[in-house]
Amino acid sequence: MKRIVTIVGARPQFIKAAMVSRALKSSGQFSEIVLHTGQHYDKNMSDIFFDELGIPKPDYNLGVGGGGHGQNTGRMLEGIESILNKERPDWVLVYGDTDSTLAGALAAVKLLIPLAHVEAGLRSYNKQMPEEINRRLTDHASDLLFAPTLSAIATLAKEGIVGPQVVNVGDVMFDAARTFGEVAAKRSKILQELGLRSKSYILATVHRQENTDSRERLGNILVGFSAASLPVLLPLHPRTKQRIASLALDIPPNVRVIDPVGYLDMTLLERNAALVATDSGGVQKEAYFHGVPCLTLRDETEWTELIELGWNTLVSPGRADLASFFRANYREGAGDATPYGNGKAAEAIARELVVY
Ligand code: UDP
Repeated sequence: MKRIVTIVGARPQFIKAAMVSRALKSSGQFSEIVLHTGQHYDKNMSDIFFDELGIPKPDYNLGVGGGGHGQNTGRMLEGIESILNKERPDWVLVYGDTDSTLAGALAAVKLLIPLAHVEAGLRSYNKQMPEEINRRLTDHASDLLFAPTLSAIATLAKEGIVGPQVVNVGDVMFDAARTFGEVAAKRSKILQELGLRSKSYILATVHRQENTDSRERLGNILVGFSAASLPVLLPLHPRTKQRIASLALDIPPNVRVIDPVGYLDMTLLERNAALVATDSGGVQKEAYFHGVPCLTLRDETEWTELIELGWNTLVSPGRADLASFFRANYREGAGDATPYGNGKAAEAIARELVVY
């Protein structure tokens, strides 16, 4: 049995880890120890995902959250190091691009414990984003890199990371959308609870630091929402909620704010939206997985395939004419390309962790 320490801390990581945890378990070749850094700690940003996606309860929770990037990363690094010293696993597994990812990567490599990165090779080339620094450093520290797409493999090659340690496994978020799409349709009652009809609303999420920390961009996004002819449903990230309050911004009358929802409810809301408007990496892709047009409220995206396929339109929140995009006909993509794999990324990850 190989021993794996999985490091998670933020909402998208719980969803990715849920898929990989299942695959590790069903292969029968691993014992998994789950370490939660505590980066996301609200019930609806953390516990709900463990409950509804069947992720093993964390063996450790560092309770590090709420501080600045440096403070959080430093405290996590210290906590993770002492746990890795005790557990001495065969692999440390990190996901995506958060402060928890970087802290886990640094702790592992300094102790010479093999490090594997799920969602390797993604770049925005925007160093203002804390995530961009986290993902670049983690990729360059990793012993095994699980890329979700061919373009991620090409990106790593441009940075000199080539060889058998780089594997295109597909995207675990696609696995999750396939696995839980029908489950959500059966179990979630969110449309009835909110009194929503299918295709009669826009689903929006906003949480990227570049948008929440700029009065101009956040204000522009809200004005953009107000121009939409449909109601906008906004499951609001705690950071954005706090910024809207501290900047004293007005929520337009056609915008309905709700607390963040669990993954099954979110899946159903995505599938039934007329349009998704988001600055989230995961939500952009899920819109495509469920065949819903998407406006991405950013200057660039790591998921360039979605732009090429036509399902995603990139709109900078810095643009004065942002609102016009909410009035236009929503653009649908075409073609049968499948850039995110065959829905079996998690199984491929488990296989590689055995043989590598
Ligand atoms: N999500 C959710 N509930 C919400 C908003 C998002 O379950 O209220 C899910 C969403 O379906 C996706 C993931 O959270 O799977 C995306 O996480 P987030 O937007 O926080 O991070 P990013 O993908 O931008 O790193």
